[in-house]
Amino acid sequence: HQQELKLLKGTKAITKNGVQIEINANIGHPEDVDLVLENDADGIGLFRSEFLYMESKQFPSEEEQYIAYKTVLEKMNGKRVIIRTLDLGADKQVPYLDLPHEDNPAMGLRAIRICLDRQDLFITQLRALLRASTFGKLAIMFPMIISVDEVRQIKSLIEKVKSDLTKEKIAFAPDFELGIMIETPASVMISDELAKEVDFFSIGTNDLTQYTLAVDRMNHCISKLFDSRHPAVLRMIEMTAKSAKKAGIWVGICGESAADTSLTEFYVKIGINELSVTPSSVLELRKAVQQIDLK
Ligand code: PEP
Ligand code: MG
Repeated sequence: HQQELKLLKGTKAITKNGVQIEINANIGHPEDVDLVLENDADGIGLFRSEFLYMESKQFPSEEEQYIAYKTVLEKMNGKRVIIRTLDLGADKQVPYLDLPHEDNPAMGLRAIRICLDRQDLFITQLRALLRASTFGKLAIMFPMIISVDEVRQIKSLIEKVKSDLTKEKIAFAPDFELGIMIETPASVMISDELAKEVDFFSIGTNDLTQYTLAVDRMNHCISKLFDSRHPAVLRMIEMTAKSAKKAGIWVGICGESAADTSLTEFYVKIGINELSVTPSSVLELRKAVQQIDLK
């Protein structure tokens, strides 16, 4: 089976009726890029930047972050790299952030909420990202969005960072894509409005399942109820795809269920353009797409 999959390297994920799906890889560490290249992914669909913060004793400096992002972009040699900004909080805590105790952290101060609350930290990350943007094809993605206002705040901070860098004569790419994760029911319900603000959507089915079904993704007592194939979740995904299509932006899935090959045909049918999975699942998924015939 592994030998058979190896033969798919160098081919594309195109269905029998000619629909091409971009198959990217998820990584959590710059070292993982080697696995991405070995498995011939089209790019990186989700680089979880949390490792930088979780493996450090204090908040990582702009320079440290810049070097990590630059390394990944250079190694990917022009293939798209989607880096997700800080997604701490809930199950991912760091002592130096000194976040308050919360009774319900999954619904608490996490991800983009921390970034918009502690803008100094966010600006450091944005500066590192923009500085790295000249070394490859960068896209930046923001987690846990629930409103248009959050997206506008983010965009205005990016404009500020751009103008600061310009004043300091520091280079950044003239254009890079900005996207948001669709992983809350709120973002699905207003996806028509959000689609007008960004270049792409990436659906985080892990959190979207958790918040749609009210099933804690970390709670083993109810793991049987955690079902990313639940019709409510699938309708959420379909609604998001429709909004993206209407606004003319692309839409992908980067949660675990992107790799569920029993759903691949459904995803292609509803117009999902990209799937991002763990590097070792890339070729298996490419094979699944190549077997689909929608005619
Ligand atoms: C998700 O929620 O589906 C996702 C991809 O992000 P994470 O698993 O890092 O929360
Ligand atoms: Mg998530």
